[in-house]
Amino acid sequence: KVTVLGSLNADAILHIPRLPKQGETMAMHDATTAPGGKGANQAVAAARMGALTQFVGAIGEDQNGIMMFEAMADNKVNTTHIKKMTETGTGAAYIMLEDDGSNTILIHGGANQALTVADIETASEAITSADVLVAQFETPLDVTAKAFELAKQNGVFTILNPAPAHKGIPAELLGLTDLIIPNETEAEIITGIEVTDDASMEANARKFRELGVPNLIITVGARGAYYSTVNGAGFVDAFKVNAVDTTAAGDTFIGTLSSQLELDLSNIVEAIRFSNRASSITVQGAGALPSIPNYDQVKAAFEN
Ligand code: ADP
Repeated sequence: KVTVLGSLNADAILHIPRLPKQGETMAMHDATTAPGGKGANQAVAAARMGALTQFVGAIGEDQNGIMMFEAMADNKVNTTHIKKMTETGTGAAYIMLEDDGSNTILIHGGANQALTVADIETASEAITSADVLVAQFETPLDVTAKAFELAKQNGVFTILNPAPAHKGIPAELLGLTDLIIPNETEAEIITGIEVTDDASMEANARKFRELGVPNLIITVGARGAYYSTVNGAGFVDAFKVNAVDTTAAGDTFIGTLSSQLELDLSNIVEAIRFSNRASSITVQGAGALPSIPNYDQVKAAFEN
């Protein structure tokens, strides 16, 4: 059982020739809207892997909110604790996708940022009944800290994906985190140690332990993932594929891993291998939610 506390964003994908200059008015090629947000992507990945998945989050009473709610329900994510905010709109990401493939993103937190500690009390059942609680940084830090506190009191394993990267994470939150999963950039922003060779990854793990987090996985894109847990450390290579769009690679990894971890970390290498495999499928498809595979597709990929 996985519970995700996180963001629900409508992704507005603006297809543009190039970024406009200050003061310029420019025509777009196209504009499309799709369900997204780190929390939503991770929950869908966990649910597609077969985990009973619950969501704690918020939407506005608007069209984007309906889209996000339906996207979760269609993917068998339990929506009981998705709160409908009356004063605030659904979170949105404006993704400016240029002809040369580069992207620039503006985020409007909206309802995601309006979640409160009181909402965690309302949703406490979803947290205390889970095996694993996952959160990111697209919802308020004090809300995450409250949820992790409740999780730890009830023996729930806590996973923090510190994204988007954030400096000065409260020590209290790190102290309540069982496993932190940053990518290379996020790890460096938190520890100040650049991720390059094995020694630098070990140095990151030591730093995270000093900060009160006993277990670490750093995802390093096409290379794979480094892990350092209370049981040992190592590197699990990624699968070699032709990547066309890496959107949601990290989210697939985290959602899948959450679905694979039992309460102890003894199966971590297998869980990472499976998660690398799932993400390698995501990067071969366009978009966020549509490219996240299900359990059978990941299994089948191992057999080919
Ligand atoms: P994020 O999307 O958060 O930046 P990463 O880029 O580190 O995260 O990717 C997460 C995981 O996705 C990696 O650990 C790896 O398993 C997989 N992955 C990412 N890019 C590729 C790629 N080009 N080829 C194969 N697997 C990839």
